[in-house]
Amino acid sequence: MNIQIEPKANQIIHLLQQHGFAAYAVGGCVRNALMGLEPHDWDVCTDAKPDALRAVFGGYETHDYGLKHGTLVVMVDGEPFEVTTYRIDGVYADSRRPESVTFTDDLTRDLSRRDFTVNAMAYNDERGLQDPFGGAEDLRRGVLRCVGVPDDRFREDALRILRGVRFAAVYGFQAERETAQALHRNARLLDRIARERVREELLGMLCGAQVTQALDEFRDVIAAVIPELAETFGVRQVNKHHCCDVWGHIIRSVGAVEAEPLLRMTMLLHDIGKPRARTTDADGVNHFKGHQQISAALAEPILRRLRCPNRFTEDCLQLILWHDFRFDGSTRQVKRVLQQLGEVQMRRLFQVQRADIAAQSDYRRAEKLASVALAQQQTEEILAEHPCLSLKDLAVNGSDLKQLGYPDGRIIGDTLRTLLDAVIDERVENTRESLLHFLQTK
Ligand code: ATP
Ligand code: MG
Repeated sequence: MNIQIEPKANQIIHLLQQHGFAAYAVGGCVRNALMGLEPHDWDVCTDAKPDALRAVFGGYETHDYGLKHGTLVVMVDGEPFEVTTYRIDGVYADSRRPESVTFTDDLTRDLSRRDFTVNAMAYNDERGLQDPFGGAEDLRRGVLRCVGVPDDRFREDALRILRGVRFAAVYGFQAERETAQALHRNARLLDRIARERVREELLGMLCGAQVTQALDEFRDVIAAVIPELAETFGVRQVNKHHCCDVWGHIIRSVGAVEAEPLLRMTMLLHDIGKPRARTTDADGVNHFKGHQQISAALAEPILRRLRCPNRFTEDCLQLILWHDFRFDGSTRQVKRVLQQLGEVQMRRLFQVQRADIAAQSDYRRAEKLASVALAQQQTEEILAEHPCLSLKDLAVNGSDLKQLGYPDGRIIGDTLRTLLDAVIDERVENTRESLLHFLQTK
């Protein structure tokens, strides 16, 4: 099996070899290259010890903040590459980071500290693939398997649990039986992991092409990081619009929206409040009135806990609040919503609504989709006219009003808002003359 190593990474490997050291591309890049996918980053491992690394790369710009764990970042033509000494991880005191690392001359020992067999392969042009744990065969069969005893590996570092589900979601790997059992069994250890790291893995997982299947199989793992989601498991939705329980609907909607972190997170949380909103009428039909507000209220602390950036959190909460909004076909209403959401969020709302519909039963699907399509078309037409949708677009401003004799203070803002309302409702044209005339006759 041949891999085309990225030329700059190969330059690093060759330089180390010229100095008499062994060096290989290792980990995720080998996995992706064997799958025919573009690797994100090419990592290099070597038997050169940190001091030797520094000497070999003396002529390069380097960053040595990871050097006590054996990692030197080498810049080649402005691009960073991690070069890491073969190492054995020391004792893991807290399911997170090893207390200490020991360097070794043995590639196999370095590979044995890695999480999954598909991530435990190394390659260079001279020696070819180094694969002591059968990663290539697992890759060919699409199997996710721990290197070593799964329970031990997840107990050493619980982040591997989320990495495992992420690899299942992104690449469609099927966890082999013992690995799968250990993923379930150790899920609760995830509460020891820094929330930022959880967030990154979670977003990576959510953006996977096989996310629906992965979330279905590992819902207990997700519930270990977002316990509120467990409330949705098995909650039936007896009405014409739905064919799945709340959780089943959620995971289908996640898979149906564009693979973009904000949209995927929005779908994951959009109906989280449904169990608390559920009522049953005399005919035994379920209703979920006000679930958008409850969902947003539940989502906010979740997003904060995961240390999502403020902008992301606010946008996500707004989309959750609006996800079930019904467009009635009028342009005026679309203008109003556009005014409140802004162009970017409005376009996202359409994506959210389409994904929501795709994950519902096919009852009235065509009508629902047509209503979203109409609102979207209206939005495009409105935007093409460069409309007046905010105070700054008005043809008059505060100083115009002051010149007319309005006193400083709230009345200026209130008057401008009245004018904006009138413009949006098409009761007055957005020209200076019409607006001033409108004020005088009001
Ligand atoms: P990605 O596609 O996200 O880059 P990756 O497998 O390359 O996936 P990295 O975080 O870049 O993941 O790590 C590089 C390699 O280091 C992995 O392939 C794996 O061999 C090893 N590794 C990373 N994190 C862990 C971990 N928590 N436990 C064990 N090995 C790990
Ligand atoms: Mg990587």
